[in-house]
Amino acid sequence: MNGRPLNWLARPTFSMLKGEPRLYTKYSDGILIEAGHYLLRKRSLLRFFHGKIAALDPRTPIFQVPNESFYDKRTEKIRTSYLKLAALHGEPILRKFVKGEPVAPDDFKPGDCRKLALKASRLERTASPEIILPPYFSIGGSTDPWIPVNMEIFREIIRLEGAPRVYFPLALDHRVLEDRDELDAVCRITSKIDPWGYAVWPVGFDEFHSNVRELQGLAHLLSNLTGDKILMYAGYFSILLCALTGSSFSNGPCFYEKRDITISPPLEFRPRCRYYLPPIHQKVDPVAALALYRILNELGISPSLCRSCRKYAQGDDFTRIAEMPDIDIFEHNFLTRRKEVDILKRSRNPLELGLENLLFLQSIRDEISHIRQMRFLKTWIEALELVQEITRDIRPTGPGVS
Ligand SMILES: [Zn+2]
Repeated sequence: MNGRPLNWLARPTFSMLKGEPRLYTKYSDGILIEAGHYLLRKRSLLRFFHGKIAALDPRTPIFQVPNESFYDKRTEKIRTSYLKLAALHGEPILRKFVKGEPVAPDDFKPGDCRKLALKASRLERTASPEIILPPYFSIGGSTDPWIPVNMEIFREIIRLEGAPRVYFPLALDHRVLEDRDELDAVCRITSKIDPWGYAVWPVGFDEFHSNVRELQGLAHLLSNLTGDKILMYAGYFSILLCALTGSSFSNGPCFYEKRDITISPPLEFRPRCRYYLPPIHQKVDPVAALALYRILNELGISPSLCRSCRKYAQGDDFTRIAEMPDIDIFEHNFLTRRKEVDILKRSRNPLELGLENLLFLQSIRDEISHIRQMRFLKTWIEALELVQEITRDIRPTGPGVS
């Protein structure tokens, strides 16, 4: 992973369609699997992805919240994946989980971090991942008592695995992104353990509903962390920041590119398949895609459909896009995002490219206004213009962007 920025680590869905695993290996740079998913579907996941697994995400922050999130709201049953995950991690997590209580930093007694690290490391080894992500807990700032626990678990994993390839998971409340001083303080503390890389997850961050300060904060954080970086959930705006800061990113081809602690697709159900619409950088209902393609066509702008869509659209008749089967939507999502990422990777100035893109979209905003709420555009543009000013004198890292 070292020196190969803007890698896309795809997260597979829980119940894969026939032909879906092939798409992950064909279009992504590696597979990132949530530990709960891995525990439930280990055999098939290894069969499909052995040798391609970039990392297992321990997803331990789920045990930091009250027990409602342990239950599947539709079936009112405890989520099997969490039960298995709790059992795997052992004490003190399991004891609290069984009582339906969140685990707290004080629950960790001397020796607990070592035991936890040992169990996690045993599991991760069975997947032969490219990098190791230690169990971790989300933090709310630089004085959060979870920080010493996270650092201790990290040190124990290093003891077992050696320093190379072990990343420090930095899960922090998205509101912290608004506070530059707090971000700097967090970076100062974690830099003491000097990890090989960071897995950054701003918990609850949603780039479409974010404010300028948060978006700027994410840019600031990614530029200030040293070593390799993976942003754990990323949509177009975040991918732009990854291109700019030499980071990689992870997301799934058909889910929303955000995640808070309490929701957890793709575990135990298959999310409704949405269609990635590159001109507006969002996943939408395929019917909305159809409408936008028609408008673009009327404006004289070619929608440049991918191979998968061309099977359904002929000339300017886009009607059948709305009828595309899920597996073709999947391939479309992979193809279009891959193209976007490759263009950013090759670009000498990804920020300018992204900004141009958004400004164009802004210019036709009136025409596409009924497609969907586009308020994010103004925020994204403002944030990028500020980031551009700050980074003007900094040389971007990574091949192709220098
Ligand atoms: Zn397509």
